[in-house]
Amino acid sequence: MEATTGSRLHRINWVTTLFLVLTPLVGLIWGALHIHAMGVGASEVAVFFFYVCATGFSITTGYHRHFSHGSYECSRIVKVFYLLFGAAAFQHSVLSWCSDHRRHHKHLDHDDDPYSITRGFFWAHMGWLLVTDHKKAEDFSNIPDLLADPWIRWQHDYYVPISVFMGFVVPFALGWTVGHPWGFVLWAGIFRVVLVHHSTFLVNSLAHRIGSRPYLRAITARDSMITAFLTFGEGYHNFHHRFATDYRNGVARGAWDPTKWIIRGLEMVGLAWDLRRVPTESIIAAQLDCDSERVSERLAERVKGHSEHALAHVRERFAEVAASVQRAAAALTVRERELAEARKQWGRDRADQLRRVRAELRAARLEMQAARVRWQAVVRELLDGSVALPST
Ligand SMILES: [Zn+2]
Ligand SMILES: [Zn+2]
Repeated sequence: MEATTGSRLHRINWVTTLFLVLTPLVGLIWGALHIHAMGVGASEVAVFFFYVCATGFSITTGYHRHFSHGSYECSRIVKVFYLLFGAAAFQHSVLSWCSDHRRHHKHLDHDDDPYSITRGFFWAHMGWLLVTDHKKAEDFSNIPDLLADPWIRWQHDYYVPISVFMGFVVPFALGWTVGHPWGFVLWAGIFRVVLVHHSTFLVNSLAHRIGSRPYLRAITARDSMITAFLTFGEGYHNFHHRFATDYRNGVARGAWDPTKWIIRGLEMVGLAWDLRRVPTESIIAAQLDCDSERVSERLAERVKGHSEHALAHVRERFAEVAASVQRAAAALTVRERELAEARKQWGRDRADQLRRVRAELRAARLEMQAARVRWQAVVRELLDGSVALPST
């Protein structure tokens, strides 16, 4: 019994555990006392907001979409920003974070997935961080590209001083200039660390629990607007696990994905380039596959009492709608490629050319929308069971 307790204690990663337990606790007690005595200052709220964005987006646009998945290229200055403010998020170095994350994608929902949801919500959220896996020493064999970058290695080697300096010393110094050094440490240090921690953790827990699976049904990752709001836009996780190298997570135009907007913004000012987009055709094909699976399962349930002839009739009807969606998606992909090409041309008639391509793209989008509405109506009818099967 004693040996079991001893070995359990031996497995605990005390530094991380104490940090993850003490930051919210200190925030709660010190925060209550500080706010009771001093109120809430506008400068404290401003620096809190800046630090939440700087560190939160360094994780999502930097650690995740750039370093882990290479979904776009960016200038050295942007990379250094990610390295400094990413360290301030206290989520370990780029090397450690990305190595774990690539393992998560490769072994999703299996034993070698470091934060597999199959081991429970708490494990995926933060439990995996509280223990040291003695079986495996740090294995960086899955990130040779990152190991080749001297700046990334520098961040790994000096991770602790960089994170303490950027996460607490800089807020203290900024606060000093306005006469609130400890207020700034509380807001931009403690409160912010806790908030950004749990926002990131929700991507591993909640994004594998709530929402829909429109792109790949065999995995736990799900798409949810709620999770997206809580995670800087990382909540379209089913899409992300299906198309991990796309710089977007919320691929629909109305999706809440501020991380995607920032990457686009960086591209507009010349600080990011080579943004990787999966062709619309492939995205639609994945959705059609999922819908077809759902439809087939429903048909299998209804098969009793109906002849093969009746079922073939229904299948044919869906195949027709699916074919029209695929045609519209293919046409839209062609127009999107034309626009990307037209943007690269700098001839005299560039403006006219762009106007023409954009008009054609708009028309292709409308066509796609109409085809999608027809497809969804047919799928809904079948899933509701309201499609009448012809009798024989
Ligand atoms: Zn995931
Ligand atoms: Zn990922």
